[in-house]
Amino acid sequence: MSDQRRYVVIGGGLAGLASAVWLAEAGKQVTLLERRGRLGGRTHALEVAPLRDVPDNGQHVIASGYDHLFRYLTSVGTRQYVKFPHQGVLRWPGGRTAMMGTKGLPAVRALLGAHPDASAGDRARAALATMRMGWQCLNQPTDLAELTTEQWFQRLGMPDTAREALWDWLALGIAAEPVRQESAKIFADVMATGIRLGVKHRRPVSIGYPTTDLDTLFVSGAHRVFERHGVAVHYRAVARRIVIEDGVVTGVAMADGGVVPADAVVCAVPNSSIAGLLDDLPEHDEIYAAADKLGYTPIVSTNLYLDRPLGTKGAMEALIGGAGVIDEVFDRQRMHGRGTLNGWLYCLTTSGAYDQIHKPGHEVVDEQMDLLRRYYPEAAEAKVVHAQVVPMPRATFSQVVGTDGLRPGQRTSVPTLVIAGDWTRTDWSATMESAAQSAAKAVDLLLKLPVLAKV
Ligand SMILES: Cc1cc2nc3c(=O)[nH]c(=O)nc-3n(C[C@H](O)[C@H](O)[C@H](O)COP(=O)(O)OP(=O)(O)OC[C@H]3O[C@@H](n4cnc5c(N)ncnc54)[C@H](O)[C@@H]3O)c2cc1C
Repeated sequence: MSDQRRYVVIGGGLAGLASAVWLAEAGKQVTLLERRGRLGGRTHALEVAPLRDVPDNGQHVIASGYDHLFRYLTSVGTRQYVKFPHQGVLRWPGGRTAMMGTKGLPAVRALLGAHPDASAGDRARAALATMRMGWQCLNQPTDLAELTTEQWFQRLGMPDTAREALWDWLALGIAAEPVRQESAKIFADVMATGIRLGVKHRRPVSIGYPTTDLDTLFVSGAHRVFERHGVAVHYRAVARRIVIEDGVVTGVAMADGGVVPADAVVCAVPNSSIAGLLDDLPEHDEIYAAADKLGYTPIVSTNLYLDRPLGTKGAMEALIGGAGVIDEVFDRQRMHGRGTLNGWLYCLTTSGAYDQIHKPGHEVVDEQMDLLRRYYPEAAEAKVVHAQVVPMPRATFSQVVGTDGLRPGQRTSVPTLVIAGDWTRTDWSATMESAAQSAAKAVDLLLKLPVLAKV
């Protein structure tokens, strides 16, 4: 018996795209509503018109444990565009570098604290603290949710050199918050997920990157799936309220006054956009309050075209040593194998960018160039050919102390309404994998509904 239900997905970010793709693959009739004129949400390519180039709104890295994201990439046929380098580069002012990885010698170095100036005592303390940390990730102390990651590192006895060379940077990357305010529990939960996935796949989780722009990676393949399965995509379609009558979803009320008929809905908008949409849901107050408390953290990304190469040693380099202004430099020549007709493109990321987010673009670029000159001797004479600064004040929900346990699950009290999005409850922090895993959970719930046959 075929399912006559009309499935509507609200939001065309990764969570919404994955939901629509997987529902379509399951043979369902799907409509996708996206308020913008493009799909991709917070992961998309961004045109630099004068150069006819398409860098991204922000460089995104991908962990090898992103199982649900890889499932999505397989569905849309772009799995081949992700690469995992053998090791990453840590760079100190003056240009000193160290290699770090999850296998062999670079892994031992990471365990012992990769800092080139670490003493033998520091290295022994780093190894001990790292093992203690691993144990406590899996067997969490009861007060972990009350601690910042910094307080936890201090309690573990993690030496400053190991924190500087690895842990503070990793914690910032995992939850986009500086360790002085990030929740230790959220960091520990993600580390525990990583350890479990490492055991499951019998290899440690490592960090990779896309070898193409984000539209090609996430959106183009989704369009092909939509065409194949007849998914209707409505652009500039702003949903206002999911209409629930007598305990069942009947439609989605739109900002233009229309109603899109629906028998089941995946609401895949970020916490910043949820208000109003769930008004008909009995538990809406609780979900709105959680969405508010989760708040936001800013990321500033810059696509910097230089007149010469920086002399990077790897595709991704972490700037260590209290840089503050940039935490990572991505060399798009190495990542994408691109030419340098428009200059050498470097994509810079500043997570937890509370200081930079309100600065004008030219100030951000000046500050970043000053910093690059401190870290890359080759940058001394470098000139900026073109710069594109992308401030994202609401880049992700915030994961500071006090936010643990707030994230709502995908199931609601109305079986035909599920919620998805990186901010809903998953095994990950605010990441693409969280968005994809939330979609997998939401779609599973809908696929378990009894088939709605034609009356
Ligand atoms: C600069 C930056 C760097 C990042 N780096 C990484 C990284 O390295 N690795 C990683 O894993 N993650 C990273 N992230 C996080 C990752 O991008 C997000 O977690 C993920 O993309 C969120 O997907 P989502 O579908 O949950 O939400 P979104 O992408 O925000 O999608 C929600 C969609 O809903 C639409 N919408 C909202 N309201 C309505 C409405 N009323 N009606 C219709 N449509 C609506 C929006 O327009 C949007 O398209 C980064 C994020 C940023 C911003």
